[in-house]
Amino acid sequence: MFPNQGVHMKGGVITERNPEFCTIRTRIPAGVVTTDQLRGLADIAEKNGVTDLHLTTRQTVEIPHMDPSVLKEIAADLAANGTPVGSERDEVVNIISCPGLERCVFANIDSIHLAQELDRRLFGKEMPVKVRIAISSCPNACTSPMLNEIGIVGRMAPVRVPGMCTGCGTCAQYCKESAIIIKRGISTLEPDRCVQCGTCVRSCPFDLLKTSGQQYLIMIGGRRGRHPHIGRELVAVNSEETAIGVVEKVINWVYRRAWSGRLLSDQMDEIQFETFQKEIRDQIPESALIGDAPPEKFSGNGTE
Ligand code: SF4
Ligand code: SF4
Ligand code: SF4
Repeated sequence: MFPNQGVHMKGGVITERNPEFCTIRTRIPAGVVTTDQLRGLADIAEKNGVTDLHLTTRQTVEIPHMDPSVLKEIAADLAANGTPVGSERDEVVNIISCPGLERCVFANIDSIHLAQELDRRLFGKEMPVKVRIAISSCPNACTSPMLNEIGIVGRMAPVRVPGMCTGCGTCAQYCKESAIIIKRGISTLEPDRCVQCGTCVRSCPFDLLKTSGQQYLIMIGGRRGRHPHIGRELVAVNSEETAIGVVEKVINWVYRRAWSGRLLSDQMDEIQFETFQKEIRDQIPESALIGDAPPEKFSGNGTE
């Protein structure tokens, strides 16, 4: 019936309520499209008689009401536009990201670059379960990474460098967690309250707050939907390259161990999350691994 069965089987082709039509979901890593690509999407839609597009929660564009009999042509047009047919089934689906270092003042990592690199390596890989990956460049977590099968959060721990703290309180004002308090005229960090958002690092007018570096916290097993679930913290590492390596290992672990037909979040204990976590941590060089301990307390004027 459909001359383009291969295209029709792609996850990004979704049968509509009226099965005479399908919606095509595109592949747009991190939701970044050029103006030319947007015009191209509009042209492809109009060429097929559609003027309304849909922006999805996974930062892609969907073209609704497509005729399944011309899918091959539409898929070719979309590929030529740099926005090919996406994925939606049990596979690695569109990877989402917040604006990150490119635009957001709170960002600690280049989440768009990370999303594009992960997309290049992993997008569309067939899996026993659907794998959604979301990246946020700071703990404000605008893309809800903890509610995805794989989530990454960029963090930064504050470090006080030697120098005279004036006790001006700017850093304490900036800290939304009340993790910095001014004691006897000097800033003091309460480590257990610190979520390592890095905001204070950029606040000190005397440049007394620095960071030990970027952190990539990787979580797995979260989900949205009718029974939302927070993912578990797997590991934190200090470079994009190591984070990518960890995500690839997670994908291989899920591919080999998970059962189809159930959400990943429901099988984390059965597929031995804790054993896997230990394996992963053992494989990462100590120099790239961030421990679980909160950041080091600072107090005094930082010269002791
Ligand atoms: S998660 Fe943080 S860095 Fe990303 S957009 Fe939100 S506030 Fe900005
Ligand atoms: S890094 Fe910690 S101390 Fe600094 S603003 Fe964020 S929560 Fe507060
Ligand atoms: S660390 Fe900097 S911002 Fe914070 S109280 Fe001291 S001088 Fe002010």
